[in-house]
Amino acid sequence: MKPYTFEKSEALFERAKKVIPGGIYGHQSPLLLTKGAYPSFFARGEGSHVWDVDGNEYIDYMCSYGPIVLGHRHPRVEEAVRRQGDLGNCFNAPTERWVELAEYLVSITPFADWAVFAKNGSDVCTYATVVARQATGRPKIAMCQGAYHGAHAWCTPVTSGLTPEDRANIVYFTYNDLESLQRVVAENHGKIAGLMISPFRHDAGHDSELPVEGFLSGVRKICDDHGIVFILDDVRAGFRLHMGGSGELFGVRPDLSTYCKAIANGYPLAACLGRDSLRKASQEVFFTGSYFTSAVPMAASLATLRELEATDGIERMRAIGEKLRTGLLSEARSHGIEVTYSGPPAIPYMTFKADAGRFDRNKLFCGECSRSGVYFAPRHNWFISTAISDQDLERTLEVTDRAFAAVKSQFVA
Ligand code: PMP
Repeated sequence: MKPYTFEKSEALFERAKKVIPGGIYGHQSPLLLTKGAYPSFFARGEGSHVWDVDGNEYIDYMCSYGPIVLGHRHPRVEEAVRRQGDLGNCFNAPTERWVELAEYLVSITPFADWAVFAKNGSDVCTYATVVARQATGRPKIAMCQGAYHGAHAWCTPVTSGLTPEDRANIVYFTYNDLESLQRVVAENHGKIAGLMISPFRHDAGHDSELPVEGFLSGVRKICDDHGIVFILDDVRAGFRLHMGGSGELFGVRPDLSTYCKAIANGYPLAACLGRDSLRKASQEVFFTGSYFTSAVPMAASLATLRELEATDGIERMRAIGEKLRTGLLSEARSHGIEVTYSGPPAIPYMTFKADAGRFDRNKLFCGECSRSGVYFAPRHNWFISTAISDQDLERTLEVTDRAFAAVKSQFVA
């Protein structure tokens, strides 16, 4: 098969640059990918496959960086979207979906008594910090160094355009290092309102880290001992690891949790779930937005989550992820290449040991895969959807075997 070419993508990108600063910004910027090996624009998706504007077809292992959990255009989700769309989406007050979805989320989440809705992960992560401050009357938020909780001023990884005041109340500790948290809590005694943490460490451009035994329960205990609100940022992992929240998989229950990405199979929706003890603070703070009550994404969410639950989508993604891992590790071994395969099976990431924190081999490997119809990103963890078939996996492993061979032939060490 001939490697893909991207003439239409390139022409569209030139047009985009004239009217959109940088053409494409944020995590989908082509600067983060392998030059010349990826499309910049997509045209359509169906199940586990996506097609770019040049007509090239890919097996999708990025899932729109997380939102697509059942595959593109899942029939049950699209049917719910059509049905709600026929009635209308955006009114002067919410629809019944607002209540149904909150009831459903509370019913599947052991710790939660209420839910609020928004559009982006950043919205609900920032909201959770505001609720924690209102509940405790304290100013500071603790988070892990290098963690991503969104694009808002208090947590964006890029500090251009910010003031030191934007970060004045943020204190940092290290994931999987309870002593570093104890130190931060002691240094800021009585001042920390909330602690935000993801269920596993998935900092962009780093190998992922699962929580070591006792870490998350240790964090929970420190929060309890010091009256700190425990906020689980489940935006990336939510509904890929456990239907009751990723904390359930690791044996920890937060006070607040935030969701986005997989919650509505690609339709714009975010949620923050909380305990009764924070209901009053939640009512006292201000939270709103032009589309916060839109009904179509909520209908999509109900259909997505019910489908995941009814079909044990979580177990399916785990099993697919296991097969991918086994296949890739066996191929790497057969080529004599050392890789680090990290993260839970449904949200995996692979790096090349010899890259030593750079991404040269990863960019070549993922670029070779992309040009042959298998879409992985080199600097970001991947996402499995329930739509990946055995045939997809077989085809994927043929492509990855050739990509490993390309790495072997272009890098001596
Ligand atoms: N938290 C985590 C863990 C995330 O992965 C993301 C998005 N990548 C966010 C928060 C922010 O979500 P959004 O991009 O929807 O604002």
